[in-house]
Amino acid sequence: MMVIFNPAAPKDEIERLRALLLTCGCEVRQSSFAGRYLLLAEREWPEPPIDLVSQLRASEHVESVIHPGKPYSLVAKESKSKRSVVAAGFAIFGGEEPPALIAGPCTVEDEQTLLEIARAVKTAGATGLRGGAFKPATSPYSFQGHGERALAALRRVADETQLAAVTEVMDTRLVETVSQYADIVQVGARNMQNFDLLKEVGRQDKPVLLKRSMASTIDEWLCAAEYIAREGNERIILCERGIRTFERATRNTLDVSAVPIVKSLSHLPVIVDPSHAAGTRKLVLPLSLAAVAAGADGLIVEVHTSPERAIKDGSQTINTEEFALLASVAESIARTVRGESRVEVL
Ligand code: PEP
Ligand code: MN
Repeated sequence: MMVIFNPAAPKDEIERLRALLLTCGCEVRQSSFAGRYLLLAEREWPEPPIDLVSQLRASEHVESVIHPGKPYSLVAKESKSKRSVVAAGFAIFGGEEPPALIAGPCTVEDEQTLLEIARAVKTAGATGLRGGAFKPATSPYSFQGHGERALAALRRVADETQLAAVTEVMDTRLVETVSQYADIVQVGARNMQNFDLLKEVGRQDKPVLLKRSMASTIDEWLCAAEYIAREGNERIILCERGIRTFERATRNTLDVSAVPIVKSLSHLPVIVDPSHAAGTRKLVLPLSLAAVAAGADGLIVEVHTSPERAIKDGSQTINTEEFALLASVAESIARTVRGESRVEVL
């Protein structure tokens, strides 16, 4: 770490910060450049010294602090010799595995409809079944899910069709209940920085699907994953679902570049949700294919037997035939990307 003082920095302030660095166990050397005093501090920190950096930056005599470390370590790529593979029931994410497909309605409606959707997506190649029981809703008057009744239905249908059940938890008090029913516990975009919830899902043993918030940077997203990992649960699947930009033609803007960037920074698998990114069903196929071409380890897609009758998010939900097409083209793209075939697609 390098602390660069402004040219007029008084000696006693430089000494105060040198003492602070020494107290934190650093070896400190001094230097100067362009009329500025520099302190060079070295130490192997078991964890990134975020607060020390902010204390140094708080001095009005410090021009800048250069700290090349990352604010997360457990989820950083360097912490593992190879990419993590997260297995959850029938679904496997990451490593050399082909992209895993999670599909299903936005929210669990009646059990019979869910069963029909599940059978169709299973036949098309899905290994996971999504369905919300506790739904985040912008308006308090919107539908918020059928709760525990929906969790039980999701569990029964997932067992019957041999799919991994994926469902969201929003409340720390419900983590235990949701994790009893689910194979993968989802933390939604709106809760990505709900630190108590992150800690709580880190203390249970089901894999966690961590969605990127619509307004977070990649570093903030990886810090959120670090919260979960620090509690002992390293079975984390990251999910890019679009970020908020000035563009209004789509519900959100899918940040496809996040896929290869996150894979270069973290060993965790990364999947993409084209449905919440697009907000419109016509874009779900092209965004899914772009995600797979960019190296995504899977997709989570909203699918319904009759999207026009879906209780929630019908406009971005594709039907089961469209999902079958998506699954087969995504598979050829994945094979081409992984160099196993020269199949020309599209
Ligand atoms: C969802 O997947 O049901 C959902 C609400 O997504 P997000 O948290 O990404 O908005
Ligand atoms: Mn939805």
